[in-house]
Amino acid sequence: MDRRTVVLTNDFHQTSVALRGEALPGGEMHLSARQVKRAGLELCCSDCRCSGETGARGHQHWAFIYTQSDRDNGGLTLSPLLK
Ligand SMILES: [Zn+2]
Repeated sequence: MDRRTVVLTNDFHQTSVALRGEALPGGEMHLSARQVKRAGLELCCSDCRCSGETGARGHQHWAFIYTQSDRDNGGLTLSPLLK
């Protein structure tokens, strides 16, 4: 499995997290449910509502896509944005 680093940020808390995502064909990346939970705790915190489950807030380099598999298993697919 090819893994590459994904960086997500939160512009409210001024935090960032680097995760080793699974590289998918076409440049998309996949994060596991555990990685999504970790991102949420590192970027934000458990009782703050500034962001969603990933903790990401403000501009990201990725579009967040929840595939059927992600909805079933709790992961997240990231599709690269051109700018
Ligand atoms: Zn927060």
